[in-house]
Amino acid sequence: MTFTDVVRYFSRLDRDVIPREKYSDMRIVLLGAPGSGKGTQAKRLEAEYRTPQVSTGDLLRAAVAAGTPLGKQAKAAMDAGDLVTDEIVLGIIRERLAQPDAQAGFILDGFPRNAAQAEALEAVLAELTAPLDTAVLMDVDFDILMKRLTGRRTCSLTGKVLNVYFSPQADIDACIQAGGELIKRDDDNEATIGNRLNVYRQQTAPLIEYYRRHGKLVTVSAEGEIDAVYRRLVESIKGLKS
Ligand code: AMP
Repeated sequence: MTFTDVVRYFSRLDRDVIPREKYSDMRIVLLGAPGSGKGTQAKRLEAEYRTPQVSTGDLLRAAVAAGTPLGKQAKAAMDAGDLVTDEIVLGIIRERLAQPDAQAGFILDGFPRNAAQAEALEAVLAELTAPLDTAVLMDVDFDILMKRLTGRRTCSLTGKVLNVYFSPQADIDACIQAGGELIKRDDDNEATIGNRLNVYRQQTAPLIEYYRRHGKLVTVSAEGEIDAVYRRLVESIKGLKS
């Protein structure tokens, strides 16, 4: 399997059968620390508005799992909780945003993660004459992030993201009773989590100011129930959906 196969898999070309008018034109970045719920909320937006979630973390994990050369290059940095090189990540993003399903809009999750990536994104979108609409900061208190990350599990059957501290017991039981396993991400261990949060503080958090300066930042409180966060998120991007 090559990396292009991985990207194609994620671009779910069956979307082409969805009438164009059901797509949304929103082009947004979800900004926030690891554990702020970007992935969970991006999946919900994708399901409701047919705007694809573009997660560099998911794309990289798939490349690692498929054993592609790019996955092999990225693995050590991911295991340590460091950033993968800009060159690799920008290559992925260019390829992913060129897929048909991303032409009408996208929800970037986990990208950009530093100033160079933010500048590169501007350049790519300027070429496509498709500027970013907004960057939504998913704001969560630091102590809550730790619990979200150490408790995070994925159901092996449904791919649903659960949390052993916060998810309803019924959701956890449903996965196990159906024969699923609760899988912990490789990088959700305490040593790596600490580094990922540091990397966020040092390299990614400055993007909050970057997008504020560009007049593109909105902030959503991402604490509390997933449904409540989702409602606040939708409210914050209301004017963007077509
Ligand atoms: P995530 O699933 O977004 O938490 O990403 C998991 C890991 O993938 C990160 O800790 C990084 O090692 C790598 N990664 C994901 N997105 C990026 C990015 N935009 N730039 C550099 N590394 C990334």
